[in-house]
Parts: sequence; C-alpha cells; structure tokens
Amino acid sequence: MEVVDNALLFDARARVLADLQARDHATATAVSALEDEVSQRKWWAEQWPEGAAYVAGLVAQDVQDALFEKVGRWPMCLECDDGPVHSLYIQPDLGGPDPVWVCEETGEIAAPLGFLGSGRS
Ligand SMILES: [Zn+2]
Repeated sequence: MEVVDNALLFDARARVLADLQARDHATATAVSALEDEVSQRKWWAEQWPEGAAYVAGLVAQDVQDALFEKVGRWPMCLECDDGPVHSLYIQPDLGGPDPVWVCEETGEIAAPLGFLGSGRS
C-alpha cells in the first residue's frame, strides 16, 4: 500500500476549518465532523492515491452533508441580495482539482476552498 502524504490531509483539514471559521461555524460539532471526514478520506486516499487532487473538496462536501443533518446549511451564499437564502457548493462536483465554492443560484464563484473569509462578505 502506498503511503499517503499526510500534508494533503492537513491541507484539506486546514482549508475546511478556515471556511468554517470564516462563517462562525467552527463549533465543536462541526470540528468533530471535520475530524471524522478527514480520517475517512485518509482511508479513501490510501486506496486511491490518484485521488489526491480531490481530497480537500470531498472533505468539504462531506462536512457540508454532515452539518446539514446536524445543524443546518453551511456555507450560505452572501453574494446574492435577492431571493431566498441559499448555499454554496463545491465545484467541480468531483471535489477537485482546485475546488471552489460556487453559488447554487447563479453559478458564480464565491471563493476558492479555504478562502471564504478573504472575499467580500
Ligand atoms: Zn448566491
């Protein structure tokens, strides 16, 4: 079995954590969901090393799903002023490469994964 580059998983964890913090969403529940998803993706990346480019985006999607079940939607779109509140989602859908958050209504890119806090908000 190949040794998975732990830096990859640290990077994925750091980026998703930054985006949780950017939206005041880094609660104990969210962080523990993040830890769970990172350890599951570690196993996944060990089975499929070529999947490295997708790990960060997939972890973000996993955390998004886990939070949806537990506490609600994250992250919300802050770009659109009209219409019902809605979420951002990860593009490309496969999780990578170069995952970005995209508005589910307009398809506009809100920020690269890990940089929700550095855009306008
Ligand atoms: Zn939007």
